[in-house]
Order: sequence, then C-alpha cells, then structure tokens
Amino acid sequence: MTAQLIDGIALSRQLRADVAARAAALAARGHKPGLAVLLVGDDPASQVYVRNKVRACEESGLHSLLERHPATLTEAALLARIEQLNADPAIHGILVQLPLPAHIDAHKVIETISPAKDVDGFHVASAGALMVGQPGFRPCTPYGCMKMLESIGCDPRGKHAVVIGRSNIVGKPMAMLLLQASATVTICHSATPDLAAFTRQADIVVAAVGKRNVLTAEMVKPGAVVIDVGMNRDDAGKLCGDVDFTGVREVAGWITPVPGGVGPMTITMLLVNTIEAAERAAAGAAG
Ligand code: NAP
Repeated sequence: MTAQLIDGIALSRQLRADVAARAAALAARGHKPGLAVLLVGDDPASQVYVRNKVRACEESGLHSLLERHPATLTEAALLARIEQLNADPAIHGILVQLPLPAHIDAHKVIETISPAKDVDGFHVASAGALMVGQPGFRPCTPYGCMKMLESIGCDPRGKHAVVIGRSNIVGKPMAMLLLQASATVTICHSATPDLAAFTRQADIVVAAVGKRNVLTAEMVKPGAVVIDVGMNRDDAGKLCGDVDFTGVREVAGWITPVPGGVGPMTITMLLVNTIEAAERAAAGAAG
C-alpha cells in the first residue's frame, strides 16, 4: 500500500481564502485585523519564521506590525511594549517569536500577553481553557494537525492516537485536542522504553520530536494516519521530518510530507486565530 498524501499547502490555500474573506468583511466594517510580531535578537531561523508570518498576513489582508528589537533589549522594556500592544485597539494578536535571549524569561513574556490576543495559544489561560474544554486559542501547530485529520475525514473518536513528544507547544496540546475529539490517547516521550510497542497499535500517530527517523515502517500499523510535525535536516542539508517518509508511506494509509505538510498549516492557523481574535474584538466593540 502506498499512503495518500495530506497536502498542507492545498489545505492552507483553502483555509487562507476563508481568512481573507473574513478579513475583507471586517475591514469593510472598519475593523482591519492586526497582528503584532515581536522579534528580539537576530537568530537566523527566527528571522525566516517571522518573515513568513508577516508575508502570510499581508497575502490574506491582515495588517501586520513587525518589530525587530536588539538582543540587548531588557525584559522590562519587552514587557512594557507588550502592555502597550495589549491596549492597542488596532492589534488583535500578539506573537513574540521564541526563543528569546537568555536574560529574558519567556514564561513571564507569554503571561504578559493578554489572553484575548494570545494567538499563539501559549498563555496559561489558553492552555487551561484547552484542558477544561472551554473556548480559547489553540496552539497553531496541533490545531493545524487537527484540521488535517478533518480534511481527510478522519474522526479521532474511538481511535487510538499516539503522540510522540510532550512539549507545551506541540505534544501536550496535541494530546488534549485528540482527547477532546474522543480518541484514546497515549503520549510517548524520551523515557518511553519501547516506542514501537505503542506506535504499532496506533490508528493515528503524531510525531513531534525533532529527530530524524524516530518513526520507521516496522513501527506503523498498516493503514494508520501519520502526521509528521518534526523539522530536521538530512545529511544533504535538506528539510526532513521525524518520520522515515520513504519507508512509512508504504505502510501508512495517510501521511503528511515534510516540507509541505504541517509547516504551512502552522502559519495558517495563526491567521485563523488572529481573524477570530479580531472578530471577537469587533463583536465586543459593537456590543
Ligand atoms: P521539544 O520541546 O524539543 O520536544 C521534543 C519532545 O520529543 C520531548 O517531549 C522529548 O521527550 C521527546 N523525545 C525526544 N527524543 C525522543 C525519542 N527518542 N523518543 C520519543 N520521544 C522523544 O520540541 P517541540 O518544540 O515539541 O518540537 C518538536 C519538533 O517539531 C521539532 O523538530 C520542531 O522543529 C518541530 N516543530 C515544527 C513545527 C511546524 O510548524 N512544522 C512547529 C513546532 C515545532 P522529553 O520530554 O522526555 O525530553
């Protein structure tokens, strides 16, 4: 069996068209949606990420404010700037690109962002809302993975989902979203003794580790849906995921490629969260 591809670029295109229509409708009512992106320092990967996010905003008709700050910016100055943006009615989403320089406490920074503008979904209030099943912003990468499952008609209800990785930004929220969708969820991590014993039982596997070939063909149940969140480089320097794509695609039923899978969906869900934040603000202003 050769797996069918879950095309993150095509799905992103559809979802971004919807975002653009909603942005145009809001702008016509005098509420142009706005995202502030704050970059501290000159980490090359972060520069690429913020550029892509700003470009995606512009293509979808969202106003974006990109602020580049030197690595010497103090924590107090960054917190003060976030407070200003919290109070700015033209800004509906605030994103602080991680990682931050070592002298800045990332937790403090995230907790300073108003939960109403927390379009990355990293604030404790957003994590808590997800945990208890209340509305709130979902972290973009796992939210995008759920959209990918939906796009292929894969309802997680009653399925066994195995999430590899337990970070706060991917693994844990991914597991919560799958649980909320009534999957039976197993979370594996670096201390899991026999990863294959779990993944072989999985109807859905989400790999979010950051190491090549964490999931190989003999670890996958025939027909399973495999979502590859990982972003790594192969020996030739080419972007690749956590999954041995060539081998696993012969066993799985569905698989996401890297690149062209989860990556574009992450940015798309940032736009979706931002438009939702702007719609809520506009509804609040109207009410
Ligand atoms: P992270 O914070 O480093 O977490 C990695 C997780 O993998 C940890 O929970 C770790 O376990 C677990 N792990 C490490 N080695 C393992 C092994 N051999 N077997 C099983 N689990 C193992 O990384 P992250 O931020 O979640 O990101 C994961 C990957 O996704 C990275 O490649 C990142 O670049 C990528 N990513 C991609 C996107 C996208 O848009 N495509 C977005 C975000 C992240 P412990 O907790 O026990 O250490």
